[in-house]
Formats: sequence, C-alpha cells, structure tokens
Amino acid sequence: MQINLEIFSPVQQINHKVFAERDLSVFIKREDLIHPIISGNKWRKLKYLLKKAQAQNKTHLITFGGAFSNHLLATAGAGARFGFKTTGIVRGEEVNNDTLFMCRLHGMKLIFTDRDNYRDKPNLFNRFFGNDDQAMFIDEGGSSPEAAQGCSELVDELSETYDHIFAACGTGTMSAGIINGLTSHKLPTTFNGVPVFKNGGFIRNEIDKLLTTGTDYQLHTDYHFGGYGKANDELISFIKTFVAETGILIDPIYTGKMLYALYDLAAKDHFKPGSKILAIHSGGIWGLLGMKDRFD
Ligand SMILES: *Cc1c(COP(=O)(O)O)cnc(C)c1O
Repeated sequence: MQINLEIFSPVQQINHKVFAERDLSVFIKREDLIHPIISGNKWRKLKYLLKKAQAQNKTHLITFGGAFSNHLLATAGAGARFGFKTTGIVRGEEVNNDTLFMCRLHGMKLIFTDRDNYRDKPNLFNRFFGNDDQAMFIDEGGSSPEAAQGCSELVDELSETYDHIFAACGTGTMSAGIINGLTSHKLPTTFNGVPVFKNGGFIRNEIDKLLTTGTDYQLHTDYHFGGYGKANDELISFIKTFVAETGILIDPIYTGKMLYALYDLAAKDHFKPGSKILAIHSGGIWGLLGMKDRFD
C-alpha cells in the first residue's frame, strides 16, 4: 500500500485587535486538518518511519507514550489506515481515558509499564518483541531524523514568505524540521519555538542535533504554564476565547500555549510593525479531552 495522505493544510488569516493595532498580519497553517487522528505534525513525523517499516517488511509498529499521547493515537490511526499492527507501551499504571479508548478503537494493543521500566525503551522492546522480526521500534513521540525530514516538508508548501514562524516544541523534532526547511529554501524567516516544558532551554540541544546547518532561531521559554500538561485559568480562558472567536479548535498542551505566546509577545510590541507571522497549528486537538473538566 502506498503510504501517503493527501495534504490539506491551508493557511488562513487570524484577525485580532492586538495584531491590527500593531500592523501585524498573522496567519495559521492548519496542520490539524491533515487528518482527525493522524493529526498535524504526528503525520509529518510518522510518514518516513512508516515508509521505512514498509521497505524493511516490518508489519508491527511498537511505540511509546504517556496516557494522553497524541503520538500513540496517531500511530494507532496510521497503523489502521496503512495496514500495520500496532502496540503502544504506555507509561504508568493501567488507566483508561479518551485517548487510550481511541487507540484501542483503532486496533492498538496497549501494554502498561511502571515509570522505572519505561525509561529503558530498547529494553522493553527486546523483552516483549525481541523475537519478532516483523516488529519495528519507534521512539516516543516518533523522534528521529526521519521525523524531522517529514516536518521540513511543511515549509515546501508555503507560497508566501513570512518574517516569523511560530511552533510549539515538545521534543523539538518538528522545530528542527521547520528550521531545516527554511534553510534549504534560503528563506529569511525567523523560527520561534515555544517549549511546553518547564526549563525548556534544554530543547536547544535537541533541536541542534537535528539541524542540517547551524542556523539561528529563537526560543520563548516563559510560556510553559507550570510544565508539560499543566495549565492555569488564564490559558484556559485564552483558549475559550480563541475557539469562540475563530472556530479553530486548539489544545491546551501545545498549540494553546504557542498561540498564547504569540498574542502576548504581540501585545508587548515584540514584533516590528508590518511583520508577517505564521503560526503552525500542529494538531492534537484531542488533548482538550484530557482537560475538559477545567473548562467548566
Ligand atoms: C507532539 C506535538 C508537538 C511537539 O512536537 P515535537 O516534534 O515533539 O516538538 C506539538 N504540537 C502537537 C499538537 C503535538 O501533538
């Protein structure tokens, strides 16, 4: 089977007083529309890994994640779509939630493991699948050079030149891919990453490992809202307003924090008047379900 999705990821403008007053044009690339389950950057990150699995006659994808992992869900969806068996090794004690429900619905088998064992992923792979030569190891979040390569293709699709591109950073793989794409197209765009972890400065090392050339970029490390998966009332209220004003669903784990950073920096006159800015909606809207009780 041909491993491909037809990419629908339009760029649309976001109008807001904060931007208009400062003569900023802000756009959003709707990577969330690529697929409801194999969502946004997770499709970009999986694409070349799945092609590699196919080329090596691997029929069973083994991967890793927390109980709310967009990557587990995307792998489950991609496995179902392209004919692979999938197993997700989940960090922590056995639970059920909306994400894991949808993983199972797409045929993924789940193995729960305690946090100590979870750290050594190659060991877990060998323990359960060492004798299965059709099994392929895919790291947590899909992190790999193949994943960065897939993400760089997002830049190939841009028909305009922007002064800034904004994206959320988890592992930094998507950021590295976008920066590589900007470099290979010789674009003058500044990449701005918004780490969703506390003390997100470490992500610079992770990004730099995957860069094809030493390129400069910016990280805005003050928008983690207490850490990964954490939020406060201000972030929740920003998301409510954003969704109600634009009709674009965003999650509180990644895109919500990135857009909050963009609005906040604009309000603080961080950008030169006349700037053209593109935000990447990297998908993962089901992350909302993990926090729905916060939206009461
Ligand atoms: C996984 C994910 C990210 C983080 O991507 P990295 O390549 O790990 O930095 C960003 N946004 C969404 C919606 C995600 O699911």
